[in-house]
Amino acid sequence: MEVKILSARFHLKNSNTLKVAKKHGAYKTLDKLFATAPEDVIDEVKRSGLRGRGGAGFPAGVKWGFLPKNTGKPVYLAVNSDESEPATFKDRYILVKDPHLLIEGIIICAYAIGCHDTYIYIRGEYTTQVKVLQAAIDEAYAAGYLGEKVAGQDYRLDVTVHRGAGAYVCGEETALLESIEGKKGQPRSKPPFPAVAGLYGCPTIINNVQTIASLPFILDKGADAYKAYGTEKSPGTHLFGISGHVEKPGMYELPLGLPLLEVINTVAGGVWKGRKLKGIIPGGSSTPVLLPEEAADATLDYESMAAHKTMFGSGGIVVLDETVDIVQLVKNLIDFYHHESCGQCTPCREGLGWMLKIIKKILRREGTMDDVLLLRELCDNIEMKTVCVLSAACTMPVRSYLDKFRHEFEAYVADAATAQACQ
Ligand code: SF4
Repeated sequence: MEVKILSARFHLKNSNTLKVAKKHGAYKTLDKLFATAPEDVIDEVKRSGLRGRGGAGFPAGVKWGFLPKNTGKPVYLAVNSDESEPATFKDRYILVKDPHLLIEGIIICAYAIGCHDTYIYIRGEYTTQVKVLQAAIDEAYAAGYLGEKVAGQDYRLDVTVHRGAGAYVCGEETALLESIEGKKGQPRSKPPFPAVAGLYGCPTIINNVQTIASLPFILDKGADAYKAYGTEKSPGTHLFGISGHVEKPGMYELPLGLPLLEVINTVAGGVWKGRKLKGIIPGGSSTPVLLPEEAADATLDYESMAAHKTMFGSGGIVVLDETVDIVQLVKNLIDFYHHESCGQCTPCREGLGWMLKIIKKILRREGTMDDVLLLRELCDNIEMKTVCVLSAACTMPVRSYLDKFRHEFEAYVADAATAQACQ
């Protein structure tokens, strides 16, 4: 099932170095790139159907096409390496195992959109990744792949690594831009969208690491070769991080569209210790949970996940076995998002705090059914009433647990009632 497009060089010793990466094909697309008109590069990426791998799944080439023409302002590229969604650990492999793949992708994207200054925004906790990436960037400068004349062409490209301070919300694209500008990392109201007014008020494209790292293959082999993997609407491959209660957790590159349960049972070795499957988080902590019976006909692509009323998200799959206490899980989830709220919207700042108080009360076995219903009502009232989707990243999954595992919340409430009666 596994495919090696993004991960083709991951197994090589010292794969992060220019010497090894170049020996195995890095930067070989640059001659072709500079012989191709930027618009044609954009068209090829559009034709490939490559979708943003940060979670939203928006087609990359279409996004690039939103850039206004001839504004007289510089165009920026910001590469989102914030990767902070719990259960998501795919981009870190690219950063450490093949940073030159990312740099080559940056050159392709920057050339296509007419950008000369790129920022890689990397999460603060990625200390090893920052070091390895910066070393690769230094090598690329020394070898003439970055700088005044990229690959000897009359084209300048500078790449700056900007390290975040460890805030989840800075993975939201406008918070990321604020942070690069040296401000507090708080999301902006949209519109205007970054393609029109992004970094320093200039047209800006923000793409995820994996999206950018997919470009060398598309330019080298062509859109049709890329579309040979995956489904019609979700083409290509994806780095899936499979964690939780499986025998073989890890990161696997797979074509999109594979049956979810088959991937768990074969690639990841099935539910560990011979236990039963209780649920699956399909794409990072913010995606609604799937019950085993719901997952039976689900495939790993954007359309199937939407049809199952969840999301493909980041491809971070978490398997939950029968021993998981869903109420405790929900408390951990709310705790995380409440902690990461940037605080500028009342429904998020206060609402998630209120939800946390309620779930803690239920866990202490002091809750009532009214508390459970209030928790559910809060999900509906907080969602989509805020500047960014962080609040929804909490309420969407919490609602799914409340609806699909209501009996577990009721059991805590029944315990509370029993304890009350015994007093
Ligand atoms: Fe900040 Fe939350 Fe509002 Fe997003 S929803 S802008 S994280 S307060």
